[in-house]
Amino acid sequence: MDEASMTVLKRYFKEYYFKNSNRINAPRRMESREFGYFPFNGAMIRHLSFSDIGAFRALLVREGPAGVYCSNSQYQDPTAEMQKKGWIKAELIFDIDADALKLPCKNEHDSWLCKNCGRKEFGFRPDICPNCKDNRILEMTWACRNCIEGTKKEVFKLLDFLEQDFGISRSRVSLFFSGNAGFHIEVEETQFDELDQHGRSEISDYLTAQGLMTEVFETARLSPSDPGWRGRVARYIRDLPPGSKPFKSPEFEKRASEMRGELDSNQVEHVMASAVAAGNVKIDAMVTTDIHRVFRMPETLNNKTGLVKRRCADISAFDPFFEAIALPEEDDLISVRVDMCPEVSLCGKSFGPIRSPTVAKVPLYLGVYLISRGAARVDAANPTGREAGEPEISGRTASAG
Ligand SMILES: [Zn+2]
Ligand SMILES: [Zn+2]
Repeated sequence: MDEASMTVLKRYFKEYYFKNSNRINAPRRMESREFGYFPFNGAMIRHLSFSDIGAFRALLVREGPAGVYCSNSQYQDPTAEMQKKGWIKAELIFDIDADALKLPCKNEHDSWLCKNCGRKEFGFRPDICPNCKDNRILEMTWACRNCIEGTKKEVFKLLDFLEQDFGISRSRVSLFFSGNAGFHIEVEETQFDELDQHGRSEISDYLTAQGLMTEVFETARLSPSDPGWRGRVARYIRDLPPGSKPFKSPEFEKRASEMRGELDSNQVEHVMASAVAAGNVKIDAMVTTDIHRVFRMPETLNNKTGLVKRRCADISAFDPFFEAIALPEEDDLISVRVDMCPEVSLCGKSFGPIRSPTVAKVPLYLGVYLISRGAARVDAANPTGREAGEPEISGRTASAG
């Protein structure tokens, strides 16, 4: 990243922490947690310990870090090297990211860049560049409203699993927008806190249906009221709309009987596979199973977007493109040179799509978002960044061919 763009990001992050450090709260048993952060242009600084939230907030205001993290684990000595920390326990955490859903809208907003010849286009990343046949291709992913709605559906599935299959009360679960393209889910103080890595990978496998052998389900006895995956598969079959292949009947009991007699084994297998694909939760297994990780802290900024990792009181209504904007001032403007970006909608205003390099004067939060995504840089003609005047994005006027 060029120096002028980096300076704009640093200043934006510092201003956010200066104005909002009181939003960052101490985790439970703060003194047992490992903290970490990484500066712009630097490696992660970890194995830090704080017993006073004031001291930690002061660090954030002073450093304005690119990323701020805290362990979900508790340790006897959080500052010791990993093997000597003395692991006590860890809250169960989950990460759901739109990228893992591979939704069709990715073909509209994602783009790729050939590192060899510089060709860039919207659409799924090709295996080799159609221009020069090189395979060094950089993928640029974006999250649209549809992506966010897709990840919300996964969160609802996860909540259902946690409540129905693991007996975890909804009141123990906190939901956060990740600050990028999905949601973080944290489960507070349950008997699962003491599970080691292996126990956690059992949970992760169960949720993702990794290794689930549906052939052991006796279709003769499958019922929508069954516990666990059996019931989930049965409810999937029950809830398929009338006319769904390969079933003739719209009723569950008759469909179950079709599965026992009329359908061939390939058809039964296909129904089971579809039920599992629809029912499993697309969590990032690494996040759930790794008990030595530091996890992005709520109300801190995500350097991939400049957006806030925000607590969601009501996830159905939560709109990250409004509610996660760090400094939503409309009259703070910046001139940026945008290489290429899909339509971006922040604070209710749309910008783009941009298909060829374009200079635009935009609100600072949007400039920061585009720079953080790697799609823009500070306009060289206005290297100091901020300036006064009217933004060039009212409605869709900044759209370029
Ligand atoms: Zn190429
Ligand atoms: Zn999308």
